[in-house]
Amino acid sequence: MTSNPDASNPDLVTIDVPTHWYNLAAELDEPIPPHLHPGTKEPVGPDDLAALFPAGLIAQEVTDEVYVEIPEPVREIYKQWRPSPLFRARNLEKALNTKARIYVKYEGVSPVGSHKTNSAVAQAYYNAIDGVKKLTTETGAGQWGSALSYAGAQFDLDVEVWQVRASYDSKPYRGYLIRTYGGTLHPSPSDLTESGRAMLAKDPNTTGSLGMAVSEAVEVAAQNDDTRYALGSVLNHVVLHQSVIGQEAVDQLYAVEPGGADVVFGCAGGGSNLAGLSFPFLREKIHGRSNPRVVAAEPSACPSITQGEYRYDHGDVAGLTPLLKMHTLGMDFVPDPIHAGGLRYHGMAPALSHTVELGLVDGVAIDQHDAFEAGILFARTQGIVPAPESTHAIAACIQHVKDSDDDQVVVIGLSGHGQLDLPAYAEFLDGKF
Ligand SMILES: *Cc1c(COP(=O)(O)O)cnc(C)c1O
Repeated sequence: MTSNPDASNPDLVTIDVPTHWYNLAAELDEPIPPHLHPGTKEPVGPDDLAALFPAGLIAQEVTDEVYVEIPEPVREIYKQWRPSPLFRARNLEKALNTKARIYVKYEGVSPVGSHKTNSAVAQAYYNAIDGVKKLTTETGAGQWGSALSYAGAQFDLDVEVWQVRASYDSKPYRGYLIRTYGGTLHPSPSDLTESGRAMLAKDPNTTGSLGMAVSEAVEVAAQNDDTRYALGSVLNHVVLHQSVIGQEAVDQLYAVEPGGADVVFGCAGGGSNLAGLSFPFLREKIHGRSNPRVVAAEPSACPSITQGEYRYDHGDVAGLTPLLKMHTLGMDFVPDPIHAGGLRYHGMAPALSHTVELGLVDGVAIDQHDAFEAGILFARTQGIVPAPESTHAIAACIQHVKDSDDDQVVVIGLSGHGQLDLPAYAEFLDGKF
């Protein structure tokens, strides 16, 4: 697949955009536990999901194919920014005085500045070919809402977004982006839905949570025939779409490091960017071609993998979504309003939780202060201001190479840039946290 291993520039390798998404679950001996119907507690069938999702995505939710072809219109859009770069972070290595060779897979080059577009474009496509007119969704810091609004504009779909109140108030810029792409924006909880009104009645001053916002978006989609719901993380089809990240990264890395990766770090909110990056590396592991360790960096304010229970739980506060077997802090958990809004989710992708249970992925909890310190060091050494979410992966990597200064190959998933999160950086620089 490597088309341009340019010998004069071994730090940057050009490869083709993947033609298929990769489904690690289909290669594991034990299947991911099925989602259960919230009423009957039986495994959900396609009919149960049809009110929320289009047929193409429902099929992907349960597929046992190892490779799923990426539709041509989706690939055409991916080509605008994919393959995303994998570069060696030599200045960061120097600053850390480490023997480790640190590579960064950077998803901030997408139109909205994060990996979320990889799934947003695919989801908008499958909804459009099913004749859907409108998509509803939730968003935390606004990355997913802006990605879906952008994708909706590509396929002529209306997009209505409920944004967690804490972020809606403190981070207006992605709200502006959502509206620029043509999306409609509401703070959550809102008085537009039954579930929102119930949450406001319980606590009129709530800062909101992703679980509450999911309930509102799901409610509106379930009540309207031409409207479907789109989830930015957690579900199997989202994890599948994100596999473009890791497939590219594996090929890009082999071109300069024939032994592959020793450790792969990513931040984990709902688990999609880390699963997307790491599952193709785990493919290399289960086929015996390399032996990477995978580390999920989560915020200590919302530590679902390191502190949560592995059990069935709802994806939302009102209990409207299927029950998912996952690492969860409980659907009512409202994390502190940390700046990494995209990591404030009570659960974790069932696909990623499953690999944690199988011993293929380890979790580590990162304090917000340490995360931003790492983000500042990364900005000053490599020039890219990381998204607050992504700083958790960098901090986990820095801790790791400080603890074990081996001659090793490390990959960091940089899920997005933080240029719209500069107010959070300013607060950190002013010593506020
Ligand atoms: C949404 C988001 C995350 C967290 O979501 P995952 O599903 O865990 O990937 C991480 N980084 C960025 C930049 C995000 O926008």
